[in-house]
Amino acid sequence: MERVSDSIIIIGAGWAGIAAAEALLSQGIEPKRILLLERTPYPGGRAFSFVDRETGLALDNGQHVLLGCCDRFASLLQSLHVRSGYRLQPLLDIPVYHGGKMYRIASRRLAGPLHLLPALLTYGHLSASERMSAIAGALAFVRPQAEKLDAVSFASWLQTSGQADTTVRLLWDLVGTAILNGHADQISAGLAAQSFHMGFMRGWQPARLGLFTRPLGDLARDAVQHLAARGVNIRYSSYVEQLHLEANKVSGVHLRDGSLIAAEQVISAVPHDALLRMLPEGWADQEPFQGIAKLRWSPILNVFLNYDRVVLNEDVFAATDFDGMFVFNRGRLLPESEQAGRWLSVSISAADRFRDWTHEQIISGVHAALCKACPEVRNAKLLTGKVVWQPKATFLAEPGTWHLRPYPRTPIAGLLLAGDWTRTDWPACLEGAVRSGEAAAAALLRR
Ligand SMILES: Cc1cc2nc3c(=O)[nH]c(=O)nc-3n(C[C@H](O)[C@H](O)[C@H](O)COP(=O)(O)OP(=O)(O)OC[C@H]3O[C@@H](n4cnc5c(N)ncnc54)[C@H](O)[C@@H]3O)c2cc1C
Repeated sequence: MERVSDSIIIIGAGWAGIAAAEALLSQGIEPKRILLLERTPYPGGRAFSFVDRETGLALDNGQHVLLGCCDRFASLLQSLHVRSGYRLQPLLDIPVYHGGKMYRIASRRLAGPLHLLPALLTYGHLSASERMSAIAGALAFVRPQAEKLDAVSFASWLQTSGQADTTVRLLWDLVGTAILNGHADQISAGLAAQSFHMGFMRGWQPARLGLFTRPLGDLARDAVQHLAARGVNIRYSSYVEQLHLEANKVSGVHLRDGSLIAAEQVISAVPHDALLRMLPEGWADQEPFQGIAKLRWSPILNVFLNYDRVVLNEDVFAATDFDGMFVFNRGRLLPESEQAGRWLSVSISAADRFRDWTHEQIISGVHAALCKACPEVRNAKLLTGKVVWQPKATFLAEPGTWHLRPYPRTPIAGLLLAGDWTRTDWPACLEGAVRSGEAAAAALLRR
């Protein structure tokens, strides 16, 4: 058995695991005590990049965005000296296309929820009375009662608060699905209210949209290289098969290659279903693990399209086709690319409905939808289309999931939990992952 005295194993080099390692270091834990084990040959977890063989371009597994309120993620990049990887819009500004018309969801430099008032008053996809009830509905997010609202779906809560079907489809569901990766009728009103509160009710700065300007995988690689340079042990292609327990206390991990590595404490920073697979027999029936088994996955569909000419000058827009899609000017966002305006990345969240579609159907459907929104696309030739399915993109924040998401401490002594799916008050996202890693490290140190 391998043994480093008083060692801490972190399982998973996604952003939760990276954040946990950095939080331990910043609290004075000696780097050589920390061992980060990762199943794949690269870090970053569900935020990874790959090089497209056909074009040689670096693509992400899915277009990621941030908001200005994602302050722990920003601070982690800074602590790990990761070269600036994204830029925030000066003010939130998203053009929304529907039925051949475009209106913007855009902030003004105003405090609190007021920064969005002018946009809601002029959001022409809704009638005047729908806009008024949208404003009244938004006020409920100023002080959301997130836990109380968790039992009902966002859709039924919107209906009770007088939102018309059109308002749900062209405003709340469009934005909510992108944030929570679930449609209004699938997701908890509690987590939706909490997310709208944190992102949009606290002023123009938290609401600024953050757009990545480097491939996601490069950011994770830089972050982990910095941890390694400080002396943290990192092992890739190391699949943890099972936790090793002695008298209800974790004392190491079994790797798939048959080896056993001893540890005093373990932070699990893997997805919820991966954690359940690592539990020794007899634990899956106990709380919180029994509850975790009820969490389900929700898919995200990404479509990359390459045109023979510039078809888009904006960085991003939304359209109501495909139950809501967000279109990013990938070529322009990655400054080193010569593909500005020609390489588009289209993100469709909660994409269950398209599961049985062929790649050809998806590409031609998205291309046809883009033709409606961007006149330039109609005259352009589509050179390449690529579909990236992420069936296990995030957990589905269904009603009732608030209490299924566990805190870092577990009934297994020495085992702490991190991951975007743990209890952070955030939806499944990079910021939630980072916060969960920091919370697990803090809980470990409190012991
Ligand atoms: C297509 C897509 C689009 C998204 N869009 C956004 C967005 O716009 N904004 C946003 O903030 N978030 C977005 N997300 C969500 C975001 O990527 C995740 O919330 C975040 O990356 C989760 O980080 P994590 O560290 O909790 O988990 P993960 O990234 O899943 O990391 C877990 C790590 O554990 C490793 N692992 C698993 N099992 C084992 C094992 N047995 N042994 C060793 N290692 C193991 C995995 O390989 C992985 O590296 C998106 C996700 C996807 C897939």
